[in-house]
Amino acid sequence: MSITWPCQLSVAQYAALGRSAPAPRRKCADCGEMTTFDGSYRRQVREAGVVHEVVVRRLFCRRCNRSDALLPDFVLRRRRDSTCSVGAAVLERFEVVIPEGATALYGGVPERPVRSWRQRFRARSSELSAVLRAQAHRPRSVLISRSSPRPWRAVRSRRAPARSARR
Ligand SMILES: [Zn+2]
Repeated sequence: MSITWPCQLSVAQYAALGRSAPAPRRKCADCGEMTTFDGSYRRQVREAGVVHEVVVRRLFCRRCNRSDALLPDFVLRRRRDSTCSVGAAVLERFEVVIPEGATALYGGVPERPVRSWRQRFRARSSELSAVLRAQAHRPRSVLISRSSPRPWRAVRSRRAPARSARR
């Protein structure tokens, strides 16, 4: 299994830190016991045509005998491309205003995966809308955080401004 956590660093900043990159220790979601770090592994993340090698730490719960990967939020499970790369490609297709230059985030990605991301998004758009609506009602959403260095903070839909922009 994996746990995604809100990382304040860019992919390049995180990658440059190697094994000393930050990772939050946290309580086990199942039993509430404090976890311990349990090794790490390397994986690749592509963004803006650059392939970065990042270290992903693992957390272990002794009580549950369970280990989870701690994925910084720019890493997508089973995807080489970063969250922002995929997001920029999808948002552009669906007429969302993205920050200038954001299309470069998926530069170098072949057309086929880009088409696949967009088709998958379209197929799950109702479900995702429900999740985002629920997140928007939380006091501190991690999906669209004001302190996030990601381009998402500047993303505004043409049809409906993001709720957080009006606060
Ligand atoms: Zn546990």
